[in-house]
Amino acid sequence: MLYRGHLISGTAAGAVVASVAFLSGRADTIEQVLVITGLCAAFALFPDLDVASIPQRWFYRVMAGVLVVLIASGRTGDAALLGLLSLLPLIDHHRGWTHRWWAVPIVPLAVLILWAAFDAGIPAGMTTHEAISDPVAVLLLQGGLATTYLPFYAAMVTGYAVHLLSDRIRPRLKRAG
Ligand SMILES: [Zn+2]
Repeated sequence: MLYRGHLISGTAAGAVVASVAFLSGRADTIEQVLVITGLCAAFALFPDLDVASIPQRWFYRVMAGVLVVLIASGRTGDAALLGLLSLLPLIDHHRGWTHRWWAVPIVPLAVLILWAAFDAGIPAGMTTHEAISDPVAVLLLQGGLATTYLPFYAAMVTGYAVHLLSDRIRPRLKRAG
């Protein structure tokens, strides 16, 4: 499926997840609703970072910009880690590991852990690197973390799953992404 199809289905699924989060009281600001919808749409595009496409070009342009900022501000360790992680979609063939079902819960979880570690909510006395190397400690020490991030995690997993389902439903367009 072409990226536009994934973008549309991901945004639609994101609106559903955001509505559920809003109605169940897990998201109460417009920013949260937009972030939930956006994350779902972004994860509906993520698996196809493994193939030359417009989203892929933009992802790596933005990533290059972020790395320049990190390096310029002396955060070379963070830049190295982010650079390494951003390479991962490229180390396999198209529809390789990014299109495996095990990746659906795992990739969003990794993003969530990094997000929590970079967030202001790193447990007191813990550095970013300690938090990244010991994500379980972060999750345990960070009271309420799981509930705070639950709607965002649900949005990422849903977007990812919607992509893999769409690819499966429309195998004729396999080569298109
Ligand atoms: Zn795909």
